[in-house]
Amino acid sequence: MPGFELFGKEERKEVNDVLETGILMRYGFDGPRNGIWKAKELEKAITETFGCEYAQLTSSGTAALTTAMLALGIGAGDEVIMPAFTFVASFEAILSVGAIPVLVDIDETLTLNPEAVLQAITPKTKCIMPVHMCGSMADLHALAAICSEHKLFLLEDACQSIGGTYKGKALGTIGDAGTFSFDFVKMITCAEGGVVMTNSKDIYTKSDGYTDHGHDHLGVDRGADLHPFIGYNYRISELHAAVGLAQIRKLDQFLALQKRNNRLLRNYLEQVPAISFRVVPEGGEDSCSFLSWFLPTTEMMQAVVAEFKEQAIMAGNFYWYVNNWHYISKWDHLKNSITLARISPEQEAALLQLKTTSFPTSDAIMGRCISTAISLVWTEEQIKEKGEKMVAAIKKVLG
Ligand SMILES: *Cc1c(COP(=O)(O)O)cnc(C)c1O
Repeated sequence: MPGFELFGKEERKEVNDVLETGILMRYGFDGPRNGIWKAKELEKAITETFGCEYAQLTSSGTAALTTAMLALGIGAGDEVIMPAFTFVASFEAILSVGAIPVLVDIDETLTLNPEAVLQAITPKTKCIMPVHMCGSMADLHALAAICSEHKLFLLEDACQSIGGTYKGKALGTIGDAGTFSFDFVKMITCAEGGVVMTNSKDIYTKSDGYTDHGHDHLGVDRGADLHPFIGYNYRISELHAAVGLAQIRKLDQFLALQKRNNRLLRNYLEQVPAISFRVVPEGGEDSCSFLSWFLPTTEMMQAVVAEFKEQAIMAGNFYWYVNNWHYISKWDHLKNSITLARISPEQEAALLQLKTTSFPTSDAIMGRCISTAISLVWTEEQIKEKGEKMVAAIKKVLG
């Protein structure tokens, strides 16, 4: 997954272009910036590379989610359906706009189970937010059908799946809006950054204004811009955008390496008949940033995790079930509604209710699953060593 593994002279060159002019901000200063517009250039590259009409860069992927929700008109008391397995940013963004996160079960795609989504719809539901975890995707056909039948927005959190596709379209460009993160460990990094992608001019214009204090960006004089609505500051800097520009040009190379390395490692794990792999919906193509695999039972996987730790080969293997960041089992701050200041009574009640909500279907999937992160810089020799050690440890446990 991490583009930072192949950081080099291309990134330094782009950053130096900005340092030469000293104009570190993405807007204004038209004269002194000497034609250097890295954020604008990166936005254009994103629309061309991923095939969407509009792209609005932000300061982070989390900021991109918040921006997208506001641009979709999601606010106080609206319900957003999200998966129980995701990164904490999903519920953070929902809460930030005053909306209510409704957590539902996943299936073996490792993201939203469409049946569970249907059950969770209420008159307050406004949006379904699949999170395409670990490089691959939700069943977008089923979710899009639910959205159109119930008149709901589809917002794709594609922060972790840059380069994955579904029926020939890039993940993140299929819903009403979609987001990527360019934080340090993502497929393309800006150090920190994110983007809202959409094919709707209205959603784009709102995202553009919101991320820059509501500026309408219609004139040439920034000071004379009007403010059609109240915004915020989620701007990316030119320095960050410059890094991303060098990275996006390497995306094909990153993906080719990632797919090769994923395949090579998978060849080893396929030698163990008890192992099955994450389900990729028909028509989907995994970005291959992780190899996610299952054992038949949670007990077996826990024994394998213990053995991996014993043999010091756990690094790079994510057992999300007990990971503090990615699964509901460990989100005590969420379930206890621990916030720095008062939130709305509706939000608080929804969070406290999570304490007594159980997710047995998701538990049964996450308890059996490990996602192995795929490095771009592994050699074949290293993959062989890794694969053989993993297989030997798994066979030892399974007997
Ligand atoms: C990384 C990530 C985010 C948030 O991105 P940041 O740029 O770190 O704020 C959101 N959702 C998912 C699924 C992520 O992996």
